[in-house]
Amino acid sequence: MSGILIAGGGLAGAATAIALAQAGRKVTLIEREAVPTHKICGEFLSAEAQISLSRLGFNCRTLGGERITHVRLIRGNRSITAKLPFEGLGLTRKTLDESLLRHAAAAGVSVQRGHAVQRISLDGGLHVEVDRSPPLNPETLFLATGKHETRGVARDGKPSRLVGFKTYFRLSPAQHMALAGHVELFLFPGGYAGLQRVENGQANFCLVVEAGLLARAGSKFPALLAHLQNICPQLAARLAGAEVLLSAPLTIARVPYGFVHRPRAQDPANLFRLGDQAAVIPSFTGDGMAIALHSAALAAEYFLRGETSETYHRRLARDVSGQIQRATALHAALSMPLLGPVLFAMARGFPQALAISATFTRVPEYARLSGAIRHP
Ligand SMILES: Cc1cc2nc3c(=O)[nH]c(=O)nc-3n(C[C@H](O)[C@H](O)[C@H](O)COP(=O)(O)OP(=O)(O)OC[C@H]3O[C@@H](n4cnc5c(N)ncnc54)[C@H](O)[C@@H]3O)c2cc1C
Repeated sequence: MSGILIAGGGLAGAATAIALAQAGRKVTLIEREAVPTHKICGEFLSAEAQISLSRLGFNCRTLGGERITHVRLIRGNRSITAKLPFEGLGLTRKTLDESLLRHAAAAGVSVQRGHAVQRISLDGGLHVEVDRSPPLNPETLFLATGKHETRGVARDGKPSRLVGFKTYFRLSPAQHMALAGHVELFLFPGGYAGLQRVENGQANFCLVVEAGLLARAGSKFPALLAHLQNICPQLAARLAGAEVLLSAPLTIARVPYGFVHRPRAQDPANLFRLGDQAAVIPSFTGDGMAIALHSAALAAEYFLRGETSETYHRRLARDVSGQIQRATALHAALSMPLLGPVLFAMARGFPQALAISATFTRVPEYARLSGAIRHP
């Protein structure tokens, strides 16, 4: 096989495929899942992510998501509410990713579903093993397999000791109303949880906890949830009378938070890493999707201009390293037993700090708005 191959049809893979197809290139995209599936994600789609999607001719605002204008930070029985410096959207990944893949197919991308890249070998060129078929030899490979490693090209980030969960609730009518327009972040020793409305009257509940806290709850999600409701009365109030909508939560572990791919001498010039395969920001920022989409736009632009992946990776690292470092430091500070409560108390006296933190942990505007190559 020659030409362009994209491994993974999440946001990063689909967005790159669309950008290249719109530029007249022939693109094949391989997505492991044969049918629409849930993904572990807080499903907070930031303004930058929405702008990136609209540049592909894709309007995510027509998909039934929920407008999010405020953030509420909650610790114990205290809370701080602040207006976000932008408007977010609560939209399930099942809806978003499927619609984007359909948009890719309509743009002319050959979308091949239900096939998995098993291994990538870099010996004497790019060899991509898909299922049990003979290896493909694409001229250029965009690696967009997201959170999971692919044999032969695993990321070199340090896995965190955090475990993520996601489920959906149908809240009681009163609690559903009370949550309107807000993303709520519950902070507790050993982690945080996010709650927000998404389409079809559901609420996304996503949490990230230290492995030790989960172990103390007997490694069982129901016990962990009961513990969190005990220490966080406002979470208990939100979930009172709620119906859980998934038979089991989605889980993830060993996410290399803080990872940013730095090009190495042995990297092939025709292997572009996208999305979580290139950079991973702490989840609470709700900006991972924006980074994935920024990486997609940048990779497509650099590729179309005949640049190597090394130049692209250097530029992406420069664009997102600052926000990832700030988010990682903020996460570490909020998790500290003494500092966390102090920072929370300070933020109560200065709620605008929440909006400022939200701005500092975004893909910077100069990076998104300037042409990829023109930026110094
Ligand atoms: C707990 C948690 C909460 C988060 N909350 C938010 C949030 O609220 N807002 C936000 O913006 N970001 C959030 N993020 C981050 C966000 O989910 C990711 O940054 C984003 O999904 C990355 O997009 P991607 O396209 O790189 O990967 P993905 O969205 O993971 O897509 C990868 C795709 O590749 C496919 N694939 C995987 N392996 C193979 C294979 N071998 N062969 C073929 N296909 C394959 C998968 O099926 C998938 O469709 C969160 C992350 C976590 C862990």
